[in-house]
Amino acid sequence: VLYMPLAEIDPEVKNIIDKETWRQFSGLELIASENLTSLATMEANGSILTNKYSEGLPGARYYGGNEYIDELEILCRKRALQAFNLDPAKWGVNVQPYSGSTANFAALTALIQPQDRLMGLGLPDGGHLTHGYYTAKKKMTASSIYFQSFPYALDPSTQLIDYAGLEKQAKIFKPRLIICGASAYPRDWDYAALKAICDKEGAWLMADIAHTSGLVAAQQLNNPFEYCDVVTTTTHKTLRGPRAGLVFFRKDGPNHEDLEKRINDAVFPACQGGPHNNTIAAVATALLQVSQPEFKDYARQVIANAKTLGSSLIDHGYKLQTGGTDNHLVLWDLRPLGLTGSKVEKVCDLLGITINKNAVSGDASAQTPGGIRLGTSALTSRNMQEEDIKVVADFLHRAIQLSLLLQKEAGSKMLKDFVRVATTETKGKVGAKMV
Ligand code: PLP
Repeated sequence: VLYMPLAEIDPEVKNIIDKETWRQFSGLELIASENLTSLATMEANGSILTNKYSEGLPGARYYGGNEYIDELEILCRKRALQAFNLDPAKWGVNVQPYSGSTANFAALTALIQPQDRLMGLGLPDGGHLTHGYYTAKKKMTASSIYFQSFPYALDPSTQLIDYAGLEKQAKIFKPRLIICGASAYPRDWDYAALKAICDKEGAWLMADIAHTSGLVAAQQLNNPFEYCDVVTTTTHKTLRGPRAGLVFFRKDGPNHEDLEKRINDAVFPACQGGPHNNTIAAVATALLQVSQPEFKDYARQVIANAKTLGSSLIDHGYKLQTGGTDNHLVLWDLRPLGLTGSKVEKVCDLLGITINKNAVSGDASAQTPGGIRLGTSALTSRNMQEEDIKVVADFLHRAIQLSLLLQKEAGSKMLKDFVRVATTETKGKVGAKMV
């Protein structure tokens, strides 16, 4: 039983995997937080390393038999520092976090005390749940349950981070930590300005570069490592690895003497148990690929494609938040069209185009967003260039026309017929033809 293939042991799960493989490769993947990782990375991820327990750190484990796991974790750390061009005398990294959320919570646990104050970009303005998000009704995430948080915002006139507003708020709120980084912000960050605010208030500066880490590693965006105390990232977005997280910590300079121990203790035992060694192997393989010259070309192309997607949509007469992008994503404001993000997401699903609804600046809540977020990381991994992206923008234009038509025809026979045909076995293909 141990050595029988999945198709024989569990055809039901195999069949689901096959269908999802078909979905990923037959459709257009435009979700900004996703990517297509390499076969080599998946091979490491699906390896026998999943069998091994290794609580602790290399050389100091709570289990025997870890000589190869130690070798692996040390290699992964080395590659993580190399990928971001970091001097091991000045920076260290913990490669054990299971995901971006646990990496962030571990970093908060290491840096501040329960009920200390933190500030992060508000969720409706593009921030992430783990940056202190709460609603008027509820503290939704561990970062707002265990810490007191106050969101900073975009300047409504420019839709860019309101650094001056943040400075004023920080003076009153007195945070112990400021998080920068976002899930839906198409522009680069001014880390020097954030560091100056943190210095005035005596706060830690933490960057969560989950979305843009591949672009930062390829030196296509500003470098957070110049200014931040701690940098976290996921490994599966622009970095193109498996699903996991990393926490980088500064080792030199005042206040950083014990940061290594604080971060390591926060990851394990404070927030996690045994590391997922198969994932760490896959992260190591992905990071090796990130360090190759071709990855720089990939990152450049991701940005060129996102810029082309943005300008093509503008040429079609649409409105983008901030009017364009510096990175891998665009935020499309659908409100002038009278459409919601949820509606367009559903129509695109029927057409085999995968996108996600997203709040745009000024939306009352993240639950009823007036926009969609589009990213070019996955399509660029499939070798798409600017000319291909223009065609994708044309498809999206037609999807909008269809959404408007369906909205107008709500309840009509035409709508019912469309949904019936588009949701049959040939979903996607037939829908696309009808557009
Ligand atoms: N941080 C940011 C900025 C993110 O966008 C995300 C995920 O979308 C995360 C953290 C959380 O990552 P994970 O889903 O791996 O927990």
